[in-house]
Amino acid sequence: MDTVSQVIQGGYCIGCGVCPFVDSSLSIHMDSDGKYQAFRNSTDNSDSKSDLADLVCPFANAIDNEDVLGKSLYGNEKNIKHDTSLGYYLNTYVGYAKVNDFRAKGSSGGLVNWFASKLLETGEIDAVIHVKDSSEPGIMYSYQISHTSNELEAGAKSKYYPIELSHVLEYVANNNGRYAVIGVPCFIKSLRLLEQQDPVIRDRIRFHIGLVCGHLKSTFFGLSEAWESGIDPDCVERVDFRHKLPGRLTSDYAIKAEGTVDGKHVETIKRVHELSTTDWGLGYFKYNACEYCDDVLAETADVTCGDAWLPGYGDDGGGMNVVVVRNTVIAEMMQRFADELFLEEIPAETVALSQHSGLRHRREGLSYRLYLKDKKHEWRPTKRVEPSNKLSYSRKKVYKYRLRLMQDSFAAYHKARELNDVSYFVSHMAPLVKSYRRADRPLMRRILRKVKNVIKKVLGKL
Ligand SMILES: Cc1cc2nc3c(=O)[nH]c(=O)nc-3n(C[C@H](O)[C@H](O)[C@H](O)COP(=O)(O)OP(=O)(O)OC[C@H]3O[C@@H](n4cnc5c(N)ncnc54)[C@H](O)[C@@H]3O)c2cc1C
Ligand code: SF4
Ligand code: SF4
Repeated sequence: MDTVSQVIQGGYCIGCGVCPFVDSSLSIHMDSDGKYQAFRNSTDNSDSKSDLADLVCPFANAIDNEDVLGKSLYGNEKNIKHDTSLGYYLNTYVGYAKVNDFRAKGSSGGLVNWFASKLLETGEIDAVIHVKDSSEPGIMYSYQISHTSNELEAGAKSKYYPIELSHVLEYVANNNGRYAVIGVPCFIKSLRLLEQQDPVIRDRIRFHIGLVCGHLKSTFFGLSEAWESGIDPDCVERVDFRHKLPGRLTSDYAIKAEGTVDGKHVETIKRVHELSTTDWGLGYFKYNACEYCDDVLAETADVTCGDAWLPGYGDDGGGMNVVVVRNTVIAEMMQRFADELFLEEIPAETVALSQHSGLRHRREGLSYRLYLKDKKHEWRPTKRVEPSNKLSYSRKKVYKYRLRLMQDSFAAYHKARELNDVSYFVSHMAPLVKSYRRADRPLMRRILRKVKNVIKKVLGKL
């Protein structure tokens, strides 16, 4: 069997949409769990198959991993450094955009759209490939092309929602121009792999802006958030996944859901802490592929931005980015327009620290998940991380619970829809969440926390 078919059958497809672009025997569709997945066409005939799909798929190509691609892209840059969590890098910062409304309209510090807009303004590119509101019925967001800063601005903020690249790649192939693309790490990797095979795409996509990535969500994530906020999934129009709450900590953000209730248009704003489905640590509605990914910081992107989840950097609620710069054109642009930015240089280790949980899950956790696959003699993608069983009993339990939380969330959501009752989802997941939390907080830590609380109470009474 070809490797892409093994990726698809094994549930490792992230739905990037790059393989259908190179192989007409493949297509991409939304599955019943609200995830884009590649499929072999039923009218498949072996003549239309090619080896190209195996080469461009980020989970099939075992040779050109992020280290290999990163080295060939940036390894020869002057002053380049390497870090096992960040990949190659020139400079690392925390910061935000001071000008226009980039920060106010962005998810974090607005730097992703600032970079894209500056590339347009300085004439480095003609258009940006990024994710915006979709006009297709039943689809909230999709990849589209923006040619101006105003068009770009309309697509600010993170979309924790399935997206795929096949139709924008057709556009790029048919429309001469210079493009920048924004994407999560595996999507940037697919494009880098495609660019090795396709000189037209390579020539046209000039810049790659990466988003730090915890994992990708199915449509059920946004729909369940809106449902918990009072809007029936069939009546949801859109969810803003990163609604900022001025004056609160950056981590204390909200979601804004729009839709109809009793025939009337409504907008509801809920702090993420008020909803059960928004806890990223639980990994509800996660693509299975994300459990077999080892690139957190988009190591093949020219610049990567994420949230600065660091003490002391999120106090005004305005949003703050971590930034990893790999391309000298980007580094020079940051110097040239330094007055438009708030930037503080920080060590690479501090950037990695801001993504500590994600990195641990995709290093230590991945090694264990690979071990479990190998134990069952099942095919799985080749990763930079080696399989290992040498974890503590409690960490193994944590990773097993996380797999179950992901799998059960889909089944519980389907059942809740059947019963037309969101509370079924919440109550069905609750015992599993409780067991997971116990495993994730070992006994000694729980005892210490209780002792601390008692001491605080006693001191408060004195
Ligand atoms: C699925 C996902 C998971 C993430 N996980 C983490 C994480 O674990 N840790 C972390 O620190 N940061 C994570 N991020 C990144 C974070 O949410 C912000 O996107 C990032 O900090 C940039 O913020 P900004 O204010 O600079 O972006 P903005 O200035 O708001 O610009 C965002 C740009 O990205 C584009 N975009 C939005 N969603 C997508 C998408 N799904 N695919 C491609 N382009 C998109 C928008 O169209 C817009 O142009 C994740 C992002 C996504 C999409
Ligand atoms: S991950 Fe992308 S390239 Fe690989 S099978 Fe899925 S859609 Fe195709
Ligand atoms: S976790 Fe990895 S596989 Fe999943 S969307 Fe992010 S980069 Fe892609």
